[in-house]
Amino acid sequence: MKERIGAVIFLVVVTLVSLVIIYGREKAKREVGGNLHQAKFYQKDLGGIVTCELCPNRCVLSDGQIGTCRARINIKGELYSLVYGKIASMHVDPIEKKPFFHVLPGTNAFSIATAGCNLQCKFCQNWQISQFFPWETQSIYMTPQEVVDSAVKSGANSIAYTYSEPTIFIEYIMDIAKLAHERGLKNVVVSAGFINEEPLRELLKYVDAMKIDFKGFSEKFYEKMTNGHLEPVLKTMKIIKESGVWLEIVNLVVPTENDSDEEIKGLINWVKENLGDSVPLHFTRFHPDYMIQNLPPTPLETMQKARDMALSAGLKYVYTGNVGDSDSESTYCPISKEKVIERKGFFVLSNDLKSGMCSDGEKIPGVWQ
Ligand code: SF4
Repeated sequence: MKERIGAVIFLVVVTLVSLVIIYGREKAKREVGGNLHQAKFYQKDLGGIVTCELCPNRCVLSDGQIGTCRARINIKGELYSLVYGKIASMHVDPIEKKPFFHVLPGTNAFSIATAGCNLQCKFCQNWQISQFFPWETQSIYMTPQEVVDSAVKSGANSIAYTYSEPTIFIEYIMDIAKLAHERGLKNVVVSAGFINEEPLRELLKYVDAMKIDFKGFSEKFYEKMTNGHLEPVLKTMKIIKESGVWLEIVNLVVPTENDSDEEIKGLINWVKENLGDSVPLHFTRFHPDYMIQNLPPTPLETMQKARDMALSAGLKYVYTGNVGDSDSESTYCPISKEKVIERKGFFVLSNDLKSGMCSDGEKIPGVWQ
């Protein structure tokens, strides 16, 4: 009797799970509806299966299946973007908020995002869009032309692809970015850098600057906190640097999880050895968010220590974020040690650079015009 009840319960559970999966697939197909946009970067396999080659997750998808990022779907053996044109968040922000400190200081970035992400960071500050399907967020449809027109109208000097994970809407970025350049706007991408080499190299043709949200200098941290991996992100940063596209790095310092001297030093030394001493490195203070509510904000001493360690190691442009300390948010000439850009939070209080040059003739690297 017990066995029979068990079998019935098992059957009911299997049926319910199957129905949920089928409902999800059908909903996704309906959602795609008239807005089908063919994805790039995938391989067709036998039997209508496709392998998405956009990021290291390399999702293998059968008809109707959606990738881990919630942004790409296999329909009858072709891969489509579920998020092309569907903007879930749109704001005009100071570019310092991204943060980019060596890109057009004191200007605004017209900032957009779609739903979805290929990582699942437990401390995500934008989880309301990054961890949802496009139809679960309030999205508006905008063509690339409409985005660029709105950006120009807003008075922004750049378009920032940000908030969630822009690389999962790479096709949309590339279409917007071409038009943006024609109108004199820069394109800046804020990404976790979890992307494969081929699409990354393609993307870099269209963008002026990339900021990598680096999670922590250990594979253990990446696996536990993000469901991603460290190596692909390190590779991404090297490729960006080699390409000549401007690179800045942000490391969120999470107390007890990625704040050991060993990890901080590991990142600093890796940056110096592989990217040089002039790539801006920002240490950002953690605040409880999403699934990590049990940890306190990062102690201010830890933030200061991380910055001091990087400066002592010879990195020239090291900043702290979410700390409220103007001195560690400002840029200094590495020769004269004079403050050349003074910031407070997201705002530029003064900028003494002339086309990126200090008054003593020292060139500060970045995108200045
Ligand atoms: S981009 Fe999305 S669908 Fe493609 S491999 Fe990564 S998680 Fe999977």
